Amino acid sequence: MDQLPLYVWSGAALVLGLMVGSFLNVLVARLPFEKSIIWPGSRCFSCYRPVRIFDNLPIIGYLVLRGRCRFCGATFSSRYLWVEVGTGLAFLALFLAEVVFNWFNFPGFGFDPLRATMPAWPAVALFCYHATLLSLLIAAAVVDAEHRVIPPLIPFTGLVVGVAGAALIGWPWPHPAGAAAAVGGPKAMPWMLVLDAGPVPIGAQPWPAVGPPPAWAAAGSWKLGLLNSLVGALAGSLVVRVVKRLFETGFGREALGLGDADLLMMAGAFLGWQPVVLSLFVGAFAALLVFKLPTLLLAAVRGTGVDRELPFGPGLAVGVVVTWFGWPWLAPRVQPVLFDLQSMLLIVGVIGVGMLASGLLLRRKAEPAPPEPQPVGK
Ligand SMILES: [Zn+2]
Repeated sequence: MDQLPLYVWSGAALVLGLMVGSFLNVLVARLPFEKSIIWPGSRCFSCYRPVRIFDNLPIIGYLVLRGRCRFCGATFSSRYLWVEVGTGLAFLALFLAEVVFNWFNFPGFGFDPLRATMPAWPAVALFCYHATLLSLLIAAAVVDAEHRVIPPLIPFTGLVVGVAGAALIGWPWPHPAGAAAAVGGPKAMPWMLVLDAGPVPIGAQPWPAVGPPPAWAAAGSWKLGLLNSLVGALAGSLVVRVVKRLFETGFGREALGLGDADLLMMAGAFLGWQPVVLSLFVGAFAALLVFKLPTLLLAAVRGTGVDRELPFGPGLAVGVVVTWFGWPWLAPRVQPVLFDLQSMLLIVGVIGVGMLASGLLLRRKAEPAPPEPQPVGK
């Protein structure tokens, strides 16, 4: 009985996720066709009769009708069910990780129902901010998997929310601004010297764009939050464009979409440049392991051909979430590089050459290119 407030709040997070998932389904079904997402209300795509309000309830509606239209019996995609359940569980997991168990060790966060009946309001506010990012990532991943396109409305909504919220959570919030002074010691050493300078505290905005922060954007100020967010959005967009350009120069064919650049731009507005740039590489790995490998196995078992143009969005979304929650583990390992310009330039050079080389390597292995001539210099 003592744990009741915990169950009530967790249940609320789950139900909120189910409802948001229901709305994401509308986005996924309508945005690729540039239909209005507000009007008209949900209706059967086959007989166009409106869906009754109780049939539209998350999960319950789907299960009661067994995924069929009440009037004409046309089947709805099981995607409706999975997106609702998936978003609900994602919200619950985010709530437990960030608000209840305080995964990032934020001061004043964590929820002990024996001492309070509700979580601290900054924790709830941050949960809502991050749940927005999670929802848009899910929508982008699902719509990309289904239609091979990420409609710009999704990442640009994220960009606006991400930048607007960033000003309120300037690094190192929720740590006190003094936590920044603790890095670098009394002589304010460069932050690349991780052993001597000490670990850079992880805030709600994981890291500042530069360390130490410039004088005009002091630690904890809205200016630093805004700077981190804008630099993050720019870096997310640029890293995909540069990798795309290099890889495709070697590969000779299109390999990444600009929707992928928009997806990382959105994530950068929320998380800053460091986690987002790394998430591209984590995402490429995730795409190979989680999406490409099972598809290849399935194709081998069924004896069908392989779909060559696999969407990259789902892998990228997984990469963002893994890097974001893996940051407490990852941060001390990448700190010596990411705050040091020389090491950064060296690694960027190595990765750039690697991209070009792997593109060339894949081009030689790939099946003969389609007969139509490839446009050059576009
Ligand atoms: Zn119908």
